[in-house]
Amino acid sequence: MGVIWTAITYSLEEAAELSFLCIGCGACDEVCPVEIPLSGILWRLKTLAAGKEGAPGRRGGDT
Ligand code: SF4
Repeated sequence: MGVIWTAITYSLEEAAELSFLCIGCGACDEVCPVEIPLSGILWRLKTLAAGKEGAPGRRGGDT
């Protein structure tokens, strides 16, 4: 949920960076009382960031 809050209060770029901390287990989807699809939102942020800058660990021209 903190990543989503970061996207709202700071920027999508900062949120996208934090989204890579998520392992995609889906536990947050199971417990959210209002059924926010958090893991799907986090996945979308990851794909946006990866498409824009490459996956983490691949930045900085290390090909
Ligand atoms: S899917 Fe949800 S509970 Fe699982 S690591 Fe990502 S944010 Fe955490």
